[in-house]
Amino acid sequence: MYSENYSEYEIIDAHAHIFPHKIADAATVNIGNFYDLPMHSSGSSERLVEHGNEVGVKMYLVCSTATSPHQVNAINKFIAKECEKYPSFFGLGTLHPDSDKIDDELADIKNFGLHGIKIHPDFQKFAMDSKQAYKIYERIEGDLPILIHCGDSRYKFSSPKMVATIHRDFPKMKIIAAHFGGYSQWDEAAQYVAGLDNVRVDTSSSTKFLGKQKTKKMIETYGIENCFFGSDFPMWDQKSELDRLFELNLTHEQYQKIFAENFKSFFNIHKVK
Ligand SMILES: [Zn+2]
Repeated sequence: MYSENYSEYEIIDAHAHIFPHKIADAATVNIGNFYDLPMHSSGSSERLVEHGNEVGVKMYLVCSTATSPHQVNAINKFIAKECEKYPSFFGLGTLHPDSDKIDDELADIKNFGLHGIKIHPDFQKFAMDSKQAYKIYERIEGDLPILIHCGDSRYKFSSPKMVATIHRDFPKMKIIAAHFGGYSQWDEAAQYVAGLDNVRVDTSSSTKFLGKQKTKKMIETYGIENCFFGSDFPMWDQKSELDRLFELNLTHEQYQKIFAENFKSFFNIHKVK
């Protein structure tokens, strides 16, 4: 529908998942079941790029989370390898708070050239504001940014209120609070996450549920400069997520901020490859 718009923008997908080929189909089915949502695609790198190319995505933040400590190393290696293969990939590593090798894993993440950490408290089964999770924040504050899956009214692991708590305790930690700060808890997110320094949100897995008016309101509440466009691929594809954002009738400048500028300044990226 809005196809004429895409080429006018530099587009960065700030939230995409990739899985190794062998498990891509199964992993995708698993997330689908977890959220009780149909998946848009299988979560492989090839598919991600295929879909992104439809709308000219220039860069993808890619990540994957370890559901147990022993997966951490393999996942970080996989993400690093995919980033080598695909120059448009901007990789985040994963950590697990139950690991007794967090320092080593963090050193690997840096050596691999990854740009931050992704955690998903609901999948990983720890509370975002728990003592064990603080072992991660203590080590990355003022250093590596962290993308955190936020919100799920069915669980008590990742609520928007917890984002406010960890921000209070680690004010210098750069946080991306995914899904407008709280999937399925958007009102609470607007209340607790909006206005926090060093905290950004992404638009992923939200617009379909929020609808046009509420999405616009969320962006206003957080401020244009604090929002990143993200698809949460393979949950959704970039085109349908972008089309829903285009319905909001923001200005070209506002879209460009959400699509790329805000992300680049958050990660100090000067030039997109
Ligand atoms: Zn995610």
